[in-house]
Amino acid sequence: MNLLIGANFKMNKTGAELREYFGTFLSEYSCPSSVDLVIAPTIIGLVLASELAKDSCVHIGAQNMSSEISGAFTGETSPLSLREISCEYVILGHSERRTIFGETDELVNKKVKTALVHSIRPILCIGENLNEKEAGLTKDILRVQLEKWLSEIDNTTGIDIAYEPVWAIGTGKSATPEYVEEVHIFIREILGQRESRIIYGGSVTEVTAHELISKREVNGFLIGSAVLDPRRLIKIVEEATR
Ligand code: PEP
Repeated sequence: MNLLIGANFKMNKTGAELREYFGTFLSEYSCPSSVDLVIAPTIIGLVLASELAKDSCVHIGAQNMSSEISGAFTGETSPLSLREISCEYVILGHSERRTIFGETDELVNKKVKTALVHSIRPILCIGENLNEKEAGLTKDILRVQLEKWLSEIDNTTGIDIAYEPVWAIGTGKSATPEYVEEVHIFIREILGQRESRIIYGGSVTEVTAHELISKREVNGFLIGSAVLDPRRLIKIVEEATR
């Protein structure tokens, strides 16, 4: 199973900045064969990123996608459009989509199903918030999220799960390697026979990547802040594969 390393640019980088990023990244990245590297720019940056990544080992991912194919859905992006530009992955269930944009359990589940139908690989983000963690509810929350968001989906072979504790996202406070290991083992137990990579997201850096990846059931990372610098992304991959 290849490691999955996803770079979530969120609402960052103009076209000019994307060109500069890919210029540096592609000239210095060594493309380890054990890694599937995904870059997820803004929706408007996807077309350019897809062109820049053409003929390279970099995969392109979207940060969001409609659960519908076409029609009166102002501001949404169809999976058909994503397929057209060779976008292979989509981040779904991200806590920012759920808390800021009000995405519901039903919508996340519907989007996962739509992505699978159109052969776009979901990176499905699950994770507890700080109150839930402090109340000792982490495992209950994750179980319910997986139940609801994977409802009516038996085979998760085409889905990657990102464990992203909400309190660790963009805060500089990563979960400890021991905590991540315990939670990932729990997620693996819930998934049972269903095959999925389980990756960790939450303030991963080039300093923390090596120790985190050495833990059981940690199959890669989803990273925001640290990967806005292409050389830091390269370093994180180096640390994850050494
Ligand atoms: C994310 O947004 O998915 C994320 C993990 O961000 P950061 O690395 O900045 O915590």
